[in-house]
Amino acid sequence: MDDAVVVGSGPNGLAAAIELARAGASVRVLEARAEIGGGIRSAELTLPGFVHDVCSGCHPLALLSPWFRSLRLDRHGLRWIRPAASVAHPLDDGPAVLLRRSLAETAEELGADARAYEKLFAPFLRNPHALLADLLGPLRIPKHPIQLARFGLPGLLPAAGSFRARFRGQRARALLAGCAAHAVLPLERPLTAAVGMLFALTGHVDDWPVAAGGSQSIGRALASLLRELGGRIETAVPVRSLGDIPPARVVLFDTSPAQLADVCASILPAGYLRRLRRYRYGPGAFKLDWALDGPIPWRDPRVLEASTVHIGGTLDEIAAAEAAVWRGEHPGRPFVLVVQQSQLDPSRAPAGKHTGYAYCHVPAGSTVDLTDVVERQIERFAPGFRDRILARHRMRTTDLENENPNYVGGAITGGVADLFQFFTRPVARLDPYSTPNPRLFLCSASTPPGGGVHGMCGYFAARSAVRRLERLREHPPPVGA
Ligand SMILES: Cc1cc2nc3c(=O)[nH]c(=O)nc-3n(C[C@H](O)[C@H](O)[C@H](O)COP(=O)(O)OP(=O)(O)OC[C@H]3O[C@@H](n4cnc5c(N)ncnc54)[C@H](O)[C@@H]3O)c2cc1C
Repeated sequence: MDDAVVVGSGPNGLAAAIELARAGASVRVLEARAEIGGGIRSAELTLPGFVHDVCSGCHPLALLSPWFRSLRLDRHGLRWIRPAASVAHPLDDGPAVLLRRSLAETAEELGADARAYEKLFAPFLRNPHALLADLLGPLRIPKHPIQLARFGLPGLLPAAGSFRARFRGQRARALLAGCAAHAVLPLERPLTAAVGMLFALTGHVDDWPVAAGGSQSIGRALASLLRELGGRIETAVPVRSLGDIPPARVVLFDTSPAQLADVCASILPAGYLRRLRRYRYGPGAFKLDWALDGPIPWRDPRVLEASTVHIGGTLDEIAAAEAAVWRGEHPGRPFVLVVQQSQLDPSRAPAGKHTGYAYCHVPAGSTVDLTDVVERQIERFAPGFRDRILARHRMRTTDLENENPNYVGGAITGGVADLFQFFTRPVARLDPYSTPNPRLFLCSASTPPGGGVHGMCGYFAARSAVRRLERLREHPPPVGA
C-alpha cells in the first residue's frame, strides 16, 4: 500500500508527488491519458517534424517559481531557452512595444511614460524573489509584508482604470493591458492590475523562456526526478470512481473541483460537495497551431525577438474584447496571445520552417470556429502571414475539455481568479488544499495560487498532505481500500 496516490500528472500533480517523495512518502501517480504532463505536453499537431505545445507554451512562472527554483531539473534534461525580449506588443501606429529584462530599456520604449513606468516597477526589483514567493501561494502571513502591501494596494485596482490614470500614452497602457489580459477577466474588475503588474514584473526579473524540445521536456524532467526519488507513474489509468484508486493513506487530486466532487461524492459531506459544484471556471480558449513556411512577417521585425506576442492593440481595445467575452460574445478583434517557440528553438520545426501558436479567450463552452478572426488579427500586424501557412490545427473549448476534463468549458487557468475566488479556491477554508475528509486533497490549478505552470499548488497541497500523513500513520486506509 502506498502512502499517497496522486490523480493526474499535470505540473501540479507531479509537483505534489515530488514533494511527497522528497518527504519520504511512497507515491503513485495515476494519469488518465497515454502520455504524462497535462498542460505541459507537445505533439506533432500539424505536419511531421513540427513540434507544437498542446497547452502551455511560454514559462515565466516556471522559471521564477520558488518550487521550480528549488530543483535541479537541468540534471533531468530540462533546458530553458531565453528570448531577447519577453513580450512584444504590436500597435497600428508606430513600432511595437518590447518588454525587455532591462527596466531602463523597456521604459525607453514608452516615451513620456518612461519615468512613471520605472517608478512603478523599480521598488519591486530590489528583492523580486521574496515578493514572488509571497504572491505565489495561499493566503497567509507574508514574509515581506511591506513589499507585498506596496504591490497589493495598487494591484487591487482594476487594470483599465489604474493604467489609464497612471500613464498618459497608449504604449505603456497597451503593454500592461496585454499583461493584465492573462487574468482572463474584464479589465474593469478589481485585482486585474495585480495580474498586469505581476506579468510585467516577471519580464524584468528574467526573460520569458520556452523549453528546449517543447513543453513536454518540463513534464519529462519532472517525471525523471520523481522516478529518481522512488515515485511511480501509471498512464492510461482514468480515475472515474473510488474503485479506480488503489489503497493509499492519502489521495491528492490534480483535477477540477467538479471531478473531485464526482469521484468522491460518497465520502465528502453534502455541504462541501455543493460548494465544490458552485465553483466558477470562467471563459474558455480557442487555440490554433500552424506549420509555417517561414517566420511570421511582422511589420515591425523586432517582434521576432520576443517569445510572446500580445495582439489586441490599445488598452481600450483589449478591455473591450475581454469584457465582450464575459458577456458571452465573440469579439471581432479578440486579444490574441502568440508564442514563437521555433524562433528560439530550431528543434521545433524542419530547417527554414516555423511553428505558430496562438489562442484567444472565448465564452465558456463556445464551439465557434474563430480561425478567420484570429488569423485576421495577426495579419493586421503581420501582412502576408496567411501566405506562410502550410497547415493548421484548431482546438475549440470542447476539444480542450475532451483532451483534459480539468479544462471545464475550455477554461485554461483552473477557474475564475477574481477577488472572491482568488484566495478561496476551490472553497473558503483555512487550508484550501484539504477537504473535510482527512485523506483527500486537491492539488490542481483550482487551488491557490491558480493557473500557470509553477507547481506551487502541488507543492502546498503536498505539504498539507505530509502533515496529515504524519498523523494518519497508525490508522487503516479507507480510500480505495
Ligand atoms: C491552451 C493553453 C495554453 C496555456 N498557456 C500557458 C502558458 O503559456 N504558460 C503557463 O504557465 N500556463 C499556461 N497554461 C495553463 C497551464 O497549462 C495550467 O494552468 C497547468 O497545466 C495546470 O496544471 P495542473 O497540474 O493543475 O493541471 P493539468 O495540467 O490540467 O493536468 C491535470 C492532469 O490530470 C489528468 N487527469 C484529469 N482528470 C483525471 C482523472 N479523472 N484521472 C486521471 N487523470 C486525470 C489530466 O489528463 C492531466 O494530465 C495554458 C493552458 C492551456 C490549455
